[in-house]
Amino acid sequence: LLLSYEPAKRLARLNIDMTSHLLGARMLFEILDMKPVEQDPPGVPQLQLKGGQIEFDDVFFGYRQDEPVLRGLTFVAEAGKTTALVGPSGGGKSTVMNLIERFYEVESGTIAIDGQKTNQVSLRSLREAIGFVSQDVFLFSGTIRENIAFGRPGASEEDIVAAAKAAHAHDFIMSFAGGYNSRVGEHGAQLSGGQRQRIAIARAFLKDAPILLLDEATAALDSESEAEVQRALRSLQMDRTTLVIAHRLQTVVNADRIFVIDGGRVVESGRHDELVARRGRYYTFHQLQFAGQQERLSA
Ligand code: ADP
Ligand code: MG
Repeated sequence: LLLSYEPAKRLARLNIDMTSHLLGARMLFEILDMKPVEQDPPGVPQLQLKGGQIEFDDVFFGYRQDEPVLRGLTFVAEAGKTTALVGPSGGGKSTVMNLIERFYEVESGTIAIDGQKTNQVSLRSLREAIGFVSQDVFLFSGTIRENIAFGRPGASEEDIVAAAKAAHAHDFIMSFAGGYNSRVGEHGAQLSGGQRQRIAIARAFLKDAPILLLDEATAALDSESEAEVQRALRSLQMDRTTLVIAHRLQTVVNADRIFVIDGGRVVESGRHDELVARRGRYYTFHQLQFAGQQERLSA
């Protein structure tokens, strides 16, 4: 079922992310000369956040008719904890995040945050509650400062710098002649994959939302920037409800709970040690995906 965010999502594949604050999304639509079709109907309640628990209950969804992606997905990401989603590519993990952000509507079943169905609260209040570091980082043509402030328009200089420091981005930013005024994008500073990701993490720090969605796609990073990005993410995760699509052994080992998703449903869940001991789907998958990461884990 397609809603209005589909055009933007298509662009997401061309390197635009929807980390967005609603304002950001609106700006994007203005740039693209498209109208944000989705509006909160008058009188719709705000999301009342408690701890940020996320609950999927029997969710069915497909991007196209007759091509189901989620088929009865049920899981709970507990408030304040780190929940990892793992599983084969194409299993529906990123779709879970798209649905939490309400880029699409579910076909059936419910998604609730702190017991409130996400499709019954204002979209604005929902998006404000969520920080999203997706695998495609969208940087627009402007200064580094503006790109970080995208996480919270109107933020003070102090807060922007603090967020950049927390994201391990401050030092590389200061290494550019223009510092925070350096322009990115065309004719601007060329940022590496790891630097772009740290800008996205700085945005999330600045936004300081209680729920964090993390598509941990670090494959493109060299090991030095990956280490920096991981350090940044670890501190960002603290005291937040975090749902992470885990690509790294360390993430799953440290997760409070792991859900193995395949074919659009949960096929196994538990903690890393339990799942390894069970010698089931996780065990097999873990050997394929995380083989060779053991050294880095102990390093
Ligand atoms: P994962 O993150 O687990 O690799 P995804 O959630 O990205 O899986 O994708 C699940 C399925 O949905 C895949 O078959 C993928 O091709 C399809 N899919 C993902 N995004 C879109 C989209 N925007 N439009 C159509 N199909 C999509
Ligand atoms: Mg994915």
